[in-house]
Amino acid sequence: MADASARLRFWGVRGSTPTPTIENLTFGGNTSCVEIRTADDQCIILDAGSGIRNLGQNLMKEAEGKNIQAHIFLTHFHWDHIQGIPFFAPIYGPKNELSFYSGIQGRPLQETLEGQMAQPYFPVKFDQVAAQRNFRTINRNEVIELGSARIIPFDLNHPQGATGYRVEVGDAVIVYATDYEHGDPRCDENLRKAAEGADILICDSQYTPAEYETHRGWGHSTWLNAVQVAREAGARRLFLFHHDPVHDDQAMMRIAEDARMHFENAIAAWEGFVAVL
Ligand SMILES: [Zn+2]
Ligand SMILES: [Zn+2]
Repeated sequence: MADASARLRFWGVRGSTPTPTIENLTFGGNTSCVEIRTADDQCIILDAGSGIRNLGQNLMKEAEGKNIQAHIFLTHFHWDHIQGIPFFAPIYGPKNELSFYSGIQGRPLQETLEGQMAQPYFPVKFDQVAAQRNFRTINRNEVIELGSARIIPFDLNHPQGATGYRVEVGDAVIVYATDYEHGDPRCDENLRKAAEGADILICDSQYTPAEYETHRGWGHSTWLNAVQVAREAGARRLFLFHHDPVHDDQAMMRIAEDARMHFENAIAAWEGFVAVL
């Protein structure tokens, strides 16, 4: 690892589907993937959208042939959150150990992930990749401890369910809440509690309030709701996340400006942004 300070990096910020067009390159076209690196060098990855491919390349370069250990927490199994796994180079290294976590109960995690690489969808089956893989379904109220980090799951309101994560790294608190629609009182309360005093709140902001009117029930929220959550929870910094595929860079700049009028420390997350924790 290059330096010992804890940090967070956005590798994919787009929602729903990758959008690698020139109009989107300031904010980025890759789907959800966020890396958290602790001071004791735990590698915690939130979601495995197409952004995880570049993260994988970076981990391989950094490791210089040494083994890679990473912990991948999935919010849910919609394509934009798992589609990068087959292209995440560390899965092909026999010395690497990758642990997958999910808060979605029901169908076993391993079986669900194997599904996207079953033939004829991909030439290599997930049970044939070389890395050691661990699978763990997390129950509510369960806390995962990884070195100096604690990860606490909570339910989000989303079609077929989704899990948010509160990640405590030393004194810093990061809350990852994407693929979440406001309006369900229990889940809204979960999020506000989880986000209390967060240093960084990463929140689903797919729609503008006007767009939301025609997208009710689609499982996503607005930048306006995100700033309300940030204010009520007393979050220090808000990252708007899961940008709609139709929001090009100009639209994203307008959204970020609108959000900043309501919450000074609102930032529309962009690919490559690094926050020191
Ligand atoms: Zn999504
Ligand atoms: Zn989703």
